[in-house]
Amino acid sequence: MIQVPFAIDVKNVVQTLNSSIQFGLTNEEAKRRIQEYGVNEIAENKPKSKWRILIDQFMDSIILILALATFFTFLFSPDLLETIAILIVILITVAIGFIMELQGVRSLESLRKMGVTESTVLRDRQIKRVPSSLLVPGDIILIETGDIVSADARLISVDNLSVKEASLTGESIAVIKNLKILAKNTSLPERSNMIFKGTSVIQGSAKAIVTYTGFQTQLGKIQQMSTTVEEQRTPLEKKLNELSKWLIWLTVIFAILIFFTGYLRGMDLIETFKTAIALAVAAIPEGLPIVATIALARGMLKLSKRKVIIKKMESIETLGATNIICTDKTGTLTEDKMRVHTLAFEDDIWSAIQNEESDFFSQLLQKKSFNSIMMASVLCNNIDLNALDRRGDSIELALIEFAEKLKLDPKKIKESNPEELEIPFDTNSKLMVTLNQNESIGTTIYTKGAFESIVNFCTTILKHGEVQEFVNKNEWFDLVNKLASQGLRVLSFAYKDVTAKPRKEDILSNLTFIGVIGFLDPARDDVKDTIKTYKSAGIKVVMLTGDHPGTAKKVAEEVGILSKDAENNSVLHGQDLQLTEELNDAIKEQLLNALVFARVTPEQKLKLITFYQKNNHTVGMFGDGINDIPALRKADIGIAMGIRGTQAAREAADIILKNDQFTAMELAIKQGRAIFDHIRQFVVYLLSCNLAEVVSVGLAALLILPAPLLPLQILFLNLVTDIFPALALGMGKGEVDIMNLPPRKANEPILTPKLWSSTIIYGLCITAAVVGITAYAHFTLKASPSEINNMAFFTLVLAQLLNVFNMSKTEVPFLSNEVIKNPWIWGAFVVSILITISVYLITPIANVLHLVDLSREQFGWVIVFALGSLGLAQIIKRLGGTF
Ligand code: ATP
Repeated sequence: MIQVPFAIDVKNVVQTLNSSIQFGLTNEEAKRRIQEYGVNEIAENKPKSKWRILIDQFMDSIILILALATFFTFLFSPDLLETIAILIVILITVAIGFIMELQGVRSLESLRKMGVTESTVLRDRQIKRVPSSLLVPGDIILIETGDIVSADARLISVDNLSVKEASLTGESIAVIKNLKILAKNTSLPERSNMIFKGTSVIQGSAKAIVTYTGFQTQLGKIQQMSTTVEEQRTPLEKKLNELSKWLIWLTVIFAILIFFTGYLRGMDLIETFKTAIALAVAAIPEGLPIVATIALARGMLKLSKRKVIIKKMESIETLGATNIICTDKTGTLTEDKMRVHTLAFEDDIWSAIQNEESDFFSQLLQKKSFNSIMMASVLCNNIDLNALDRRGDSIELALIEFAEKLKLDPKKIKESNPEELEIPFDTNSKLMVTLNQNESIGTTIYTKGAFESIVNFCTTILKHGEVQEFVNKNEWFDLVNKLASQGLRVLSFAYKDVTAKPRKEDILSNLTFIGVIGFLDPARDDVKDTIKTYKSAGIKVVMLTGDHPGTAKKVAEEVGILSKDAENNSVLHGQDLQLTEELNDAIKEQLLNALVFARVTPEQKLKLITFYQKNNHTVGMFGDGINDIPALRKADIGIAMGIRGTQAAREAADIILKNDQFTAMELAIKQGRAIFDHIRQFVVYLLSCNLAEVVSVGLAALLILPAPLLPLQILFLNLVTDIFPALALGMGKGEVDIMNLPPRKANEPILTPKLWSSTIIYGLCITAAVVGITAYAHFTLKASPSEINNMAFFTLVLAQLLNVFNMSKTEVPFLSNEVIKNPWIWGAFVVSILITISVYLITPIANVLHLVDLSREQFGWVIVFALGSLGLAQIIKRLGGTF
């Protein structure tokens, strides 16, 4: 392991690490070093081990209560058979919990693997992309703006590199990097010739040699120090756990009441005690958090197959409540395939020039103004002309391609006009400047950018080969507006010849305006339909762009964000925005009504999101640049593009659209809504079933009827009728009209008052059937207590299974709703019935469950009463009593 790489010459670093700046490591050597140094990973959330999952099942409060109850029961009345039966029930509960949680953990793990980041590395003389986890000390890496550094490395060469190291040092100001050798005692924030894992490249590019990976990196060391990682729980899980806890208390109180009423009535104490305990167990929906986790994880996996990566489980829940989507323009709503479309300089405009032949351009190149525009286009441009795949700003790429179409040689132009200084493009200043040396004049300053940003610095204009006073700024202003209103992205150009390098503050003074280029970037075809879907789903799509209001408006109209006859106040200009803490109602309304915000800065984007959130909106936000990171973090759902987005944006986002399709978000929202609906469905289902068990036993005790349920029967019910249908509900596809309904309100609890009343009504319908058959069998059929108990038990099994069909929406007809059409439900139904029949037929188990032979007529009554409970629930539902 190398010591203090920042304090020695880079050649020494390379030598010590046995590498080569020119060729990189060989593939074999890299493989060997992985064995030696391990993978370059800092396992942040190490997945729970199998043992941990198993132990956690036994720590569950339900299992503990059950175990305690078994112990006491055994102590008071040593019935071995029954004790073994309860122990088996405990084991089955543990096994189901274990399998379900394991499945949840596994799906999360495979999702984590899918989100692996890649690094650009020189290996075996070739530049390639490899998973960052496979970087080893000695690897030569290449980084550029927007990357997250994946290992600690010593810089070999830098080009304007500045890096944000807040993740490491807490310092939010970017650090400018250089190659100077430093003293051995230089502190971490001052190590300017090193880059560190986890930090983000704000600007520039660099080549570096990896010195440390994995836990040897500074980030790794910090991570190791904080060993106790708190277990992450999603808000939904928390809500469900709270619900369960609340129910536990309620049931404990209920169980104590049952015990004392039994005691006061002089009933068998042990039996009453066991009933009370079993009731407590019966009432608690122990499978709830696990079933919910599985539903969420399954949704995430399903989406990942459609190239939508959800990084955090809770995002699924938030997706269902999202009611505003903020999007940028270029690349998200448009193709991001820029082409030069219009030229304007001197007094002429040439449109649709992409169709022109080379003769036309050679004539234009005779003009000094056009020549200068092309010089600025090539020189004031950061596309790496030597790169294998030319990546970078699409507008700059379009300029290089245009120059090449004109048979100019960008490489040669750059070589003969070496760059002395660059002020890179920045979304706040909206311009870029370079100072280039040339033989004839000395130095020329070139700038390109937004018209408003450049025009104020211009005092002269280049016309007919001469520099003239710039008097017709207003005409140019109108022209730029006109081009923008055609949907063109407009770039203005200016220059200045200087004999000596000017002071920084003088660089942009007294510039000579040259002209503008309009770029065509067609709107994406598929976006229009998606925006329509959002509209009918009650989701507002808002465009936030740094571009010209005219361009923004036209694109917004093309994709359907704005209707053609939209009111003027639908488009707001960044400079008119007031986003202070306290806003009056008129401004609030104006902001809430606007659909396009043009010429907005990253700070304004952030403030707008905060404003929406303060006004109770749940905001999704698309972003792809370094500047978007604060807004991506602030938004309830940050969305980054997988291909076009920078690595830093992808890290900050909650959702990554791997194939860069705006339309993919529609799937995610649909899935989010469906999953939340399912969770509600099985919460209502489980709670209503459990309520039925508790109230049935309680009522029968109060009415002095034979006990409809014995403790072990309750446990059996919980295992068979609870889990399978609940899981099956989570497998549903979602109601077809799910995207025609408004989003769920933010902060709405899982169970709204309406859902609570549904739960109670369904629970009481089942209770009516159970108590009904108990009374009927007792008073009319004069059946024996064990027959009565069995009839009540089977009625409960069937009525609970049928209860699953109550979980569909009222608006959808019974025979075509989601639940009826869900094959998993039928599977769960059949499996549960088969298990019940087997239990009835296998004598030893039947004995443990106190099952006796019933006549056909008695079974007939079971079916009648169970169907009756479904019928009753459906009538109340259609009368509007439930959801
Ligand atoms: P969008 O929403 O379309 O993605 P944006 O918010 O990213 O746009 P910016 O890229 O900040 O907008 O561009 C704002 C303005 O800056 C553009 O209208 C253009 O005039 C100018 N501009 C864009 N890219 C460059 C560049 N590479 N060099 C100089 N000026 C540029």
